[in-house]
Amino acid sequence: MKNGKSLDELLPEAFSTVREVSKRIFNMRHFDVQLMGGVILHQNCIAEMCTGEGKTLTSTLPAYLNALSGNGVHIVTMNEYLAQRDAKKNKPLFEFLGLKVGINLSGMSIIEKQKAYHSDIVYGTNHEFCFDYLRDNMVFSSKKKVQKTLHYVLIDEVDSILIDEARTPLIISGSSKENIEVYNIFNKMVPYFVKQKTQKINYSSKDGDFFIDEKNKQVFLTENGLKKFEFLLLKFNFINKDQSLYSTQNFIFIQYIIAALRAHFIFNRDIDYIIKDNKIIIIDEHTGRMMLDRRWSDGLHQAIEAKEHVNILDESQTLASITLQNYFKMYKKISGMTGTAQTESFEFQVIYGLKTIVVPTNNPMIRKDLPDLIYMTEKEKINAIIEDIKNCFLKKQPVLVGTTSIKKSEIISKKLFNLGIKHNILNAKSYKKEASIISQAGKLKAVTISTNMAGRGTDIILGGVINEKINKYKLNDIKKKWQKEHNEVILLGGLHVIGTERHESRRIDNQLRGRTGRQGDPGSSRFYLSLEDSLIRIFISENIKKIILNFNLKFGEPIEHHWITSAISFAQKKVENYHFEIRKQLIEYDDILNTQRNIFYLIRNNILKIKNIKYFIKKNLIDIIKNILDNYNNYHNDIINLENIFKNDFNLIFSFKKLLKNNLLISKKLILNKIYKKIQYNYKKIEKKIGYDNIRKIEKKIILNILDFFWKEHLLFMEYLRQGIHFRGYSQKDPKQEYIKESFFIFSNMLNILKYEISSNIIKKIFYL
Ligand code: ADP
Ligand code: MG
Repeated sequence: MKNGKSLDELLPEAFSTVREVSKRIFNMRHFDVQLMGGVILHQNCIAEMCTGEGKTLTSTLPAYLNALSGNGVHIVTMNEYLAQRDAKKNKPLFEFLGLKVGINLSGMSIIEKQKAYHSDIVYGTNHEFCFDYLRDNMVFSSKKKVQKTLHYVLIDEVDSILIDEARTPLIISGSSKENIEVYNIFNKMVPYFVKQKTQKINYSSKDGDFFIDEKNKQVFLTENGLKKFEFLLLKFNFINKDQSLYSTQNFIFIQYIIAALRAHFIFNRDIDYIIKDNKIIIIDEHTGRMMLDRRWSDGLHQAIEAKEHVNILDESQTLASITLQNYFKMYKKISGMTGTAQTESFEFQVIYGLKTIVVPTNNPMIRKDLPDLIYMTEKEKINAIIEDIKNCFLKKQPVLVGTTSIKKSEIISKKLFNLGIKHNILNAKSYKKEASIISQAGKLKAVTISTNMAGRGTDIILGGVINEKINKYKLNDIKKKWQKEHNEVILLGGLHVIGTERHESRRIDNQLRGRTGRQGDPGSSRFYLSLEDSLIRIFISENIKKIILNFNLKFGEPIEHHWITSAISFAQKKVENYHFEIRKQLIEYDDILNTQRNIFYLIRNNILKIKNIKYFIKKNLIDIIKNILDNYNNYHNDIINLENIFKNDFNLIFSFKKLLKNNLLISKKLILNKIYKKIQYNYKKIEKKIGYDNIRKIEKKIILNILDFFWKEHLLFMEYLRQGIHFRGYSQKDPKQEYIKESFFIFSNMLNILKYEISSNIIKKIFYL
């Protein structure tokens, strides 16, 4: 490297070194397919490698190679348990090779984080890396920054991070001191609105005030509804008689009523959220997990608080935000690995420019994927699932049951309990606990119930894992016992995976299936469906349902029909596409903000680093004073105005009257000089009093505070703009073009005002010291 060789040239030697070291210290020699995976990861691509193929070990190859440049490699995991686990696992290898390994965890001090980031290989979660970036752009001194360059990132379980998690931006927020009483008032308006009876969106419908779009979890007001809303705003004194709902300052009210309607008609207690300690807590739709610190945006959370009559918490205002997409795109090189990427390869290509390459398995895959069984009702389906579990249990074959929510896990658990079938249920208490339960899901007679994403990243070995902290003298006996159990599970056909429902995306189905059949093990999987499943209820056409009804099935009898199977996969594609569009739109809108964010952060960083702040302020100030004077042609007519401006905005008592009386034809330059001299005189006095260096520090702080304040307001405005922009659609304008136009105008305007505010604020604040 030092002699000028490129990483590509060094790849063979670097990879061989890693392989040899791994063999010596771990007794694991990278398989050839793992070397292939390593090459793919080095080449800015996504490697699809099945679960259990050893992605953790694969990652050591490109990580070592890319760390040679000295710029640091970030390895991203889904949660902190996995970050710590993988760092610990690979540390001996990296350290043998002379590299430092760091872990970046939430809650670490700045010093600890800086130390972690100075390592060659840094492990951490996507959230933590992303928040560090945002926080680094909010510091008041360069010394408080933690991140170095964003060089090479390797994302484990990349689909989960770049797809599932990428639907909402990451936000750092503070309190906005908004008037929360309004949520109660809008909550009271809800009963006035009538739900539209027809199932299709119809804005000019006369049969109701709003339409519910169940698929998109959205509510739309019809023309009737908008009229009614305008009337209610008047009634509750939000607007005057002569005001329209559509004016710029009023359209934000639409957001409140939409939030109130969504709270009442779409979001249900104990399904979408629970109430705990008088607080609304979101339940994650994929994992069934409580999302303790998250709040819904767009006022929805407050609207639900109003609906449930719990304390309404202050709307938090965004101080900084970025999408995961735009964060990761800042790295010079991205790569990722997962068991399930192929179905999403289009999105990886379009959004991130990442190619997906499928790596073959080390041993041939012999898992049996059994055809779906479809039942008329949920009840019949659950019965069949229980029957399947029971059969496995009786033969001692281990089973893993995947559900879509904690609630559904509990239904199955209860039935098994009644039958006396011993089982484990993943209760989402902690990642570590989940990992320890799921790692034993391959033992004889094990029945494990889990929501679909839970325990991801943990290997399921047939026969279970041997506890690391075991007595050395007994190890041989224990190994023998394990081998016997392992062989027995293999004879029984390995782990059987049951899916209790098809998920909204084929990828999640594949993820669940992939839990079995690792590294050439036997295994089987089967999905159970019913016509009452939400995927089928919402996305499968009435015609197909009618055909099924014509089959005249007996109770408990399943259907297997290729029409239905293809209809389901079509439905999944439709949902996948819908979610893709949401993410695409999020990024399209964030791209615009991203340009502004980059400019803004650049300005802020320059201020942070600036050596001669006094010169910067002087230049700025002279510009501003010039601008003020430019606005007046005839000073004599505007003496009072001018004096007021300097008095109010610059804390400067300056008598234009006296100055102009003696000089009838005074030049602008002379006035400027006189004003500046006066300011300088005041400045000198203050500098003497407070100390020259102290004043410079105060100035910097004032400027950064103003910048942050303006940025916060700008983000708020952009948010309103984005939400309101769809109403422009009514007047046949392209919402995105409008958004670009307006946000550009607002942003450049903000930069202009900023200059003025900085000068005026500094002078005012400093002269009051
Ligand atoms: P993945 O992340 O691909 O699902 P893991 O990285 O968790 O898989 O690895 C699964 C198991 O395979 C681990 O127990 C690991 O020690 C083992 N393993 C990985 N690579 C090798 C290898 N080359 N030789 C032997 N065992 C390996
Ligand atoms: Mg893994």
